[in-house]
Amino acid sequence: MREGWRLVYEGYDPAEEPLREVLCTVGNGRFATRGAGEEARGDGLHYPGTYIAGGYNRLISVVAGRNVTNEDLVNFPNWLPLSFKPEGGVWLGEEGNEFLDYRQELNLQEGILYREFTVRDPSGRETKISSVRFVHMKIPTLAGLAQEITPLNWSGRMAIRSTLDGGVTNRGVARYRQLRGDHIEVIGTGRAEDGIVWLQVRTKQSRLEVSLAGRTSVWVGSDPLRAPAKVTSSEDAVIWETELDAQVGGKIRVEKLVSLRTTRDPALGDLIEDGLNDIRRAPAFDTLVAEQRLAWRLLWNRFDVEVDVSAEEDLSPHSLQLILRLHTFHLLQTASPNTVGLDVSIPARGWTGEAYRGHIFWDEAFILPFYVWRAPEIARSLLLYRFRRLNEARAAAAAEGYEGAMFPWQSGSNGREETQIIHLNPKSGNWDPDRSHLQRHVNAAIAYNVWSYVRTTDDRGFLREYGAEILIEIARFWASLCRWNEGEERYEIHGVMGPDEFHEAYPDASDEEEGGLRNNAYTNSMAAWCMQRAVDALHSLDRPTREDLSERLDLSEEELARWQEISRAMKLPKMENGILEQFEGYAELKELDWDAYREKYGNIGRLDRILKAEGDSPDRYKASKQPDLCMLFYFLGKEEVTTLLKTLGYELTPELVRKTIDYYRTRTSHGSTLSHIVFAAILDEIDREKAWAHYIEALQSDVKDIQGGTTPEGIHTAVMAGTVRHVLERWAGIQQGEDQLSVMPRLPEAIRKIRFLLEYRGYRMLIRVDAKVIEIKTLSGGRDPLSLRLPHRQIEVHPEEHIKEEYA
Ligand code: BGC
Repeated sequence: MREGWRLVYEGYDPAEEPLREVLCTVGNGRFATRGAGEEARGDGLHYPGTYIAGGYNRLISVVAGRNVTNEDLVNFPNWLPLSFKPEGGVWLGEEGNEFLDYRQELNLQEGILYREFTVRDPSGRETKISSVRFVHMKIPTLAGLAQEITPLNWSGRMAIRSTLDGGVTNRGVARYRQLRGDHIEVIGTGRAEDGIVWLQVRTKQSRLEVSLAGRTSVWVGSDPLRAPAKVTSSEDAVIWETELDAQVGGKIRVEKLVSLRTTRDPALGDLIEDGLNDIRRAPAFDTLVAEQRLAWRLLWNRFDVEVDVSAEEDLSPHSLQLILRLHTFHLLQTASPNTVGLDVSIPARGWTGEAYRGHIFWDEAFILPFYVWRAPEIARSLLLYRFRRLNEARAAAAAEGYEGAMFPWQSGSNGREETQIIHLNPKSGNWDPDRSHLQRHVNAAIAYNVWSYVRTTDDRGFLREYGAEILIEIARFWASLCRWNEGEERYEIHGVMGPDEFHEAYPDASDEEEGGLRNNAYTNSMAAWCMQRAVDALHSLDRPTREDLSERLDLSEEELARWQEISRAMKLPKMENGILEQFEGYAELKELDWDAYREKYGNIGRLDRILKAEGDSPDRYKASKQPDLCMLFYFLGKEEVTTLLKTLGYELTPELVRKTIDYYRTRTSHGSTLSHIVFAAILDEIDREKAWAHYIEALQSDVKDIQGGTTPEGIHTAVMAGTVRHVLERWAGIQQGEDQLSVMPRLPEAIRKIRFLLEYRGYRMLIRVDAKVIEIKTLSGGRDPLSLRLPHRQIEVHPEEHIKEEYA
């Protein structure tokens, strides 16, 4: 096996456990379980969470005297618990056991988590344990684990206990702990005649029923243990126990196979019975392991991005290659081929923790292209999550007096706004008002995803049936949000927040006021862009479809003309130095003494919390959490931004682009992991050294938990996708043009070679790039030739062609 596949931890370090647990999550795009030990309980240090894609529930909590409803990603029953106890000793996982050595390995290539450790109990009995664990990629209802237990210096009776534990609550994020987390209730437990035990729970509000069925099997040496097992049910768990004679040096093997079923599963007959049958029909454990390896191998054939890094530039302890694979691995555990057809999209933190409650944000726009380039069928399925919530978005728009569809900043079960209205500042202990729902730009992200998906795949059916309607309703919303400024003869948008969440309102606004800002340049530009794309999309449809759609959505020529008019006359504020202003009034804000704050606080990423805890407010300063208007360059590229601005009547020269990025970069605290990946990308052609530094920061966001404690609460899917896309889109230079794919490599010095598979308009191709040569092999393809732009020429390629071209 070549290196770059194994995330290895040597030694047991309690302080690192929360981060290890989240990074070692195993999942299959349908459900996922954090990498806590089988012996661990949610004890403040460990947190064995199991999450189901789209498994949400709402609860009302009383906070600061108010009733607050929160919709959470539910922590479902823990299927892991497996423990043993030498006679007269203590259970593994209980006080008194001491780890003598410890090793944990997440094997990304196989999709298997391995652990190996030796424990000594209070009487000095030493036992070695090695385990494997998977959430099955091929049979998506199954998860399994096996332990090999070897007494090293003792013989005697040993008890084994295997539990399905429904006594779990949402406790994973400290700052949410004042809110209720008791989302599930156990509604049944049982034991089938053939020894399989089951546990059934129901979420309290969303009424989602979930059953776990599990079989535990034990071998002493090569003999299956025949001793009868004792099964007991407590209020919220079902416990299976047995006993055996353990011999010094003799191996005991325990296998635990679990099925997880929900009432939302397709092809479901009976929740309990179908789960029991999953176990009965499952192949032998070793076969399941082999199938798991195979399923992952097939995924890696499609998704691996091989990167050859010069040794002196590589990272330590985790190589760049390993981290890239870890990111791909986690994305595939969040949405995989098993996700296709499920009513879910990609949450900001994957299904790995409770931060941001499993909600779907604009982060989708960073994530979706990861799938569009490699597995468009997954991307399509994720886009349908938004389509199904169009009516909710229409209702949200109407409720505020707008037209069209207004998608929520945070979306969960049914697509209503799930953003909290107050938010706990862990630095001050205060509940501050949360106005982040004013980030209407999420609508632009959704339109952007629809547009990019259709452009890359040419999936006309999707555009016709779903995509065009989303684009139209979003354009409508923007048009109704715009107001005409008679004096300036410009359209304006008021009362919104841009991606920079440090600015929620003007410094003199009172808490009671609605908040938001006037003319956020990012929002205004993207609104104009959305209206233009909606018109383009309509024009690209065949006439009968266009007419049908117009009739169905009551869309007139006048309305289209109005979008076009607005999208040519949107106001973008400017500062005296000629740089676009992040929002109207930004120029009057105070400069922050960045050095003083860095010196006082070290990491000032979350400057907002620091300032608020000081009784101050980030609203007063020229200080951003992450790029705001510079995000335009990230999503659209500088050529398209220049064209867009030109339509609006603003000139943008390459020099001005440079100045703009520099101006805002020096006023950004990078309080979001998105910040570094955006700067890495937009600086790539401007300042390679800085771009590289930002890329490395982005890459290490999660393995090093650079935000200081956020990763254990859930991985960051957007930055993970961003780092993989960066290799494809910036270094290998893959971009989609008008009906054309371009490959314009620009490898950084440290990168010697890149190799990956790409899908574009029905073509599947293998692309290899080094400092001098581009190699493209089309493995399969469509009927039409593919138009390809290379650095020195433009060509047409067909299926099963091999192009090799020197470009440098
Ligand atoms: C960022 C948002 C992002 C959210 C979820 C916040 O910290 O500022 O832009 O959507 O996290 O990842």
